[in-house]
Amino acid sequence: MIQHFIVIGNPIAHSKSPEIHSLFAAQTGVEINYQRQYCPDDAASFTAVIEAFFKGGGVGANVTVPFKQVAYECCVARGGLSEHAKVAGAVNTLLLNKALLKNGIPIAEAIYGDNTDGQGLVNHMTSLGWPLKDARVAIIGAGGAARGVILPFIEAGIAELTLANRTVSKAKDLVSELSAASEIIAQQQIKTCTTEELEGEFDIIINATSIGLSGATLPLSDQLDGHYAYDMMYGRNLPFLQHFAARGAQVSDGYGMLIGQAALSFERWTGHAIDVAVITDAL
Ligand code: NDP
Repeated sequence: MIQHFIVIGNPIAHSKSPEIHSLFAAQTGVEINYQRQYCPDDAASFTAVIEAFFKGGGVGANVTVPFKQVAYECCVARGGLSEHAKVAGAVNTLLLNKALLKNGIPIAEAIYGDNTDGQGLVNHMTSLGWPLKDARVAIIGAGGAARGVILPFIEAGIAELTLANRTVSKAKDLVSELSAASEIIAQQQIKTCTTEELEGEFDIIINATSIGLSGATLPLSDQLDGHYAYDMMYGRNLPFLQHFAARGAQVSDGYGMLIGQAALSFERWTGHAIDVAVITDAL
């Protein structure tokens, strides 16, 4: 039987998720129909579209910009959240909470949210052979993407984490919020600084800012070095990666993270694990 999925966002025409999920379907033999779903940019429209989708027999939905926080609120009021979604304050994967359905609660009350973005990044780095255990990690950026990866990194056993951001108060606020939300984040004692102040040698440095969209470059200190540098953006000619590659680091863009988070969503919905390396090669 064909299983129905959507990715909901605004804009949505550019989304690569249908292509990625069709490769997952081919790899696992699961029959799927995965569509891009446009939605007006307001919470009421989002909730109406999602309810209609699940009432119509939909199995799972991916959520992208600008609805990840709206989806989080929707799940708080309904079927619940995974620990990663709770701490991230954002949802990228929706499914039905079957336990609630069994108790006879209507479908609209059983929408459950997960967040696979951070674990998708951790899995991509692991597949690249980048050592996370005991690593000294610096993340530049304190928006939604940074927020979603902090718990998975700490769970992966990193030794130290520094969060740098253009607006340092946002980095400090993020650390306070996450420390209040999660005991293991509170124990990590995350350091904060401005991007210019980030100095020293790290094992892994991650660009989790959206600066690449503007074509500008980050004001990086000459005293900053990393063995591995990762830009969550993807595409060619990323100045952040060029900078660290020139200093001898191994580098990667965020395309593998995109595939990694999608693979975890697919597994959540269908129970089938994906061989991500095969998909990455195919793409
Ligand atoms: P947000 O808008 O939530 O946060 C943006 C961050 O970028 C803030 O820390 C902001 O700093 C910083 N920033 C923006 N412009 C500049 C600038 N000119 N100079 C310095 N810092 C700047 O975005 P997200 O966290 O959602 O996304 C960040 C990036 O991650 C995007 O490029 C997105 O495409 C990518 N991403 C990739 C994924 C993947 O699967 N590969 C998944 C999710 C995100 P300040 O606080 O000072 O404003």
